[in-house]
Amino acid sequence: MNKFLIAPSIIASDFTTLGDEIVACESAGADWIHVDVMDGHFVPTITVGPLFVEACRRATKLPLDAHLMVSNPDQHLEVFAKAGANRLTVHVETCPNLIQTIERIKSLGCRAGVTLNPSTPASALDAVLPLVDLVLVMSVNPGYSGQKFMPEMIGKVEEIRGGLDAIHSQAFLQVDGGMSVETVPLMYNAGANVFVVGNFAFKHPMGVGEAIRLLRGCIPA
Ligand code: ZN
Repeated sequence: MNKFLIAPSIIASDFTTLGDEIVACESAGADWIHVDVMDGHFVPTITVGPLFVEACRRATKLPLDAHLMVSNPDQHLEVFAKAGANRLTVHVETCPNLIQTIERIKSLGCRAGVTLNPSTPASALDAVLPLVDLVLVMSVNPGYSGQKFMPEMIGKVEEIRGGLDAIHSQAFLQVDGGMSVETVPLMYNAGANVFVVGNFAFKHPMGVGEAIRLLRGCIPA
């Protein structure tokens, strides 16, 4: 088991060669494939949906980690589970009955994650920390790839790490947004252990394999 996991955000890849991009991630030692689902309502952009997850499913056996940036995730959990997602992460801002939503995700056979926008305080997750398998801290405002990392989110990761450790939770603590060889060590030291990487991986001049190798090496073994 690696000390930390790397989850390439596949929407930053070239869709004309999606299968090859996923295989390249897998060969380079990526741990999960992260799928950023955006609905044009909760966030301004529209990206991909369940058909895309299904295509990813056919290309890899790696866990598919779907991050649902949608206004009404409860209506869509089942279709993403059936499409082959292994992990479903929902935004606290979109779930009026968050505990029920988490239970529903588990009943569909998926791992349940929760996330929150940069402006939402960590305390919004207090009631559900014992129930989840993953907490995702957004280190940019969700909606576009290629945004600049928000250093203010280091403190939020530290706070959530403290909360998880206090209840002896083994849940993953994931960070999404602006991850690179400069920012991954900052978030790792703050207590995160899963890193979503978009442009750093897929726009790297040396290719995705080298980008993932550099990320692995940016934290001393
Ligand atoms: Zn994401």
